[in-house]
Amino acid sequence: MQNYGIHIWSDDNYIIDNDKLKINYKSSPAIFEIVKEIRNGGLNGPLILRFPHLIEKQIDALYHHFTRAYDELDYQGKFQAVFPLKVNQYPYFIKALLQKGLPYHYGLEAGSKAELLIAMTYGNKNAPILVNGFKDRELITMGFLSAKMGQDITLTIEGIHELESIIEVAKIQQTMIPKIGLRIKIHSAGIGLWAKSGGVNSKFGLTSTELMEAMSLMKKHNLLEHFTMIHFHIGSQMTSIAPLKKALKEAGNVYSDLIKLGAHHLESINLGGGLAIEYAQNSKQVHYSMQEYTNDVVFVLQSIAKAKNVKEPNIIVESGRFIAAPHAMLVAPVFELFSEEYDEKALQLKEHNPPLIDELKALFLDINKDNAREFLHDSFDHLHSLFTLFDLGYVDLIDRSNSEILVNLIMKKSIILLKDENLDTLLQMQEHIQEKYLVNFSLFQSMADFWGLKQHFPVMPLSKLDEKPIHSAILWDITCDSDGEISFDTNEPLYLHSVDVAKEEYFLGFFLIGAYQEVLGMKHNLFMHPTEATIEITEDDYSVKNIIKSASIIDILDDLDYDINEIQNILSKHIKSSAFIHESEQEEILHKITELLHENGYLNTID
Ligand SMILES: *Cc1c(COP(=O)(O)O)cnc(C)c1O
Repeated sequence: MQNYGIHIWSDDNYIIDNDKLKINYKSSPAIFEIVKEIRNGGLNGPLILRFPHLIEKQIDALYHHFTRAYDELDYQGKFQAVFPLKVNQYPYFIKALLQKGLPYHYGLEAGSKAELLIAMTYGNKNAPILVNGFKDRELITMGFLSAKMGQDITLTIEGIHELESIIEVAKIQQTMIPKIGLRIKIHSAGIGLWAKSGGVNSKFGLTSTELMEAMSLMKKHNLLEHFTMIHFHIGSQMTSIAPLKKALKEAGNVYSDLIKLGAHHLESINLGGGLAIEYAQNSKQVHYSMQEYTNDVVFVLQSIAKAKNVKEPNIIVESGRFIAAPHAMLVAPVFELFSEEYDEKALQLKEHNPPLIDELKALFLDINKDNAREFLHDSFDHLHSLFTLFDLGYVDLIDRSNSEILVNLIMKKSIILLKDENLDTLLQMQEHIQEKYLVNFSLFQSMADFWGLKQHFPVMPLSKLDEKPIHSAILWDITCDSDGEISFDTNEPLYLHSVDVAKEEYFLGFFLIGAYQEVLGMKHNLFMHPTEATIEITEDDYSVKNIIKSASIIDILDDLDYDINEIQNILSKHIKSSAFIHESEQEEILHKITELLHENGYLNTID
């Protein structure tokens, strides 16, 4: 994996040029340089970088492929995309999305009151607002108010009682009635980690019987003219297209039959999300292309409309992951490499060592290219024996420390000796000689889906790319939780470089984190949303905009409802009453603590 699989996951968004990873767009700046510039302002901890050009690219791709498929098949419906806010509600993402989506009247989908408020406030003019999810009277009333404000809003019904609420609210707010959508329960389920959204047992949607009931309720209350859309969503990150095709057939037939039953204003099918992102670094996991996806969708819906002799439906998509994932990356500084603790200088060999230790020493001195593998294995055997001897009381703590150091030195030497060997040899050694990299970020905050679902995100260093990386790595985050670790299959290791982080900075980039991760992020150990910045790239330069610093310790505690004045008063009392602090120092110590309270909670690697 010498290029860290960028030919698989990066969609040509990044290139390796000499030693650096660069953004493959216009002036192609090196990410390393951008990061240095931002951190020169004194910002420590991890960074989220947003790239608006990658939002634009995804939006354009979606429209390009649907438009092409429409043209090829002479499809009669319209195409419309909306962004589901739950995927990323952060303002500098949403504002960039809406701006890039302006030419397409790109819409928003909301699943809660707070999201609806974002949509009503920031949504593009003449762009649709769709409301999914469970709704109470209040939320439905908000929908009516939005319609009164002249917005193109559709309330999608997830259950019959919601329709009953709409009927109630419509009696009071008669003037402007929002459009109504019905979410249908799809019989065929999705696949992959997020498949639960589809299928008969899915949380959402109406069964055929409920659809009929909804039809007669709408008829009875004169709402049928507002019923314009049916909706389904088979789950996120569908890695193959077959389940979608099945669902489309179901939805296409429901659409046609509802029209025949009198839904004369029904004109759109909303396919929800599901369009996948390739996260893999070793071999592809998404088994279809955009071309295939769009051709299949348009073809299936056209065939059914033709066969049933109804008009071809407008197609609405709610792609979230596909639009948002590529736009953001996380940059995290490496804080420490763990084998560095084992330095030859730390050895405390005795005049008379246990024989196994003398043997380890001999292995270390005599190891060469030809015997490296054998010596390495011998040294592991010795180490295990020495541990047993320690437990039995035959060797002491100094011996034990010496044996750990010697084995580690043997490992390091063998890595260097074998670094030009073929991959198989190296792979065989993997599990013994993985190097632990302590990385200044929180997995729980920044990659919640890795913690929750073992979703892999591409990772690679931003510099030293002209140097052969020799350590097969395990990544540790800085939380005090043993789940805060990313390990790699020993058949598909992540190789990182040997660096002395006291002398040079070494950053890891985690990619495709723009969908779901930010808002799912947890405050475990009180590590908060990292500092973020928007990077705009021009023909000959780039600019860093919209820097939002990670929350300070004061804000974190305030957020947990601690009383900040109380904290400061108590600390001040501790300082004043301490027997170890002279009166003349009190002011300075208090000042230092206050300063610290205004920093963020991540490790400080900037001196
Ligand atoms: C979450 C969700 C989406 C977005 O799905 P992606 O797979 O991220 O595109 C779309 N529609 C609905 C109803 C959703 O719940």
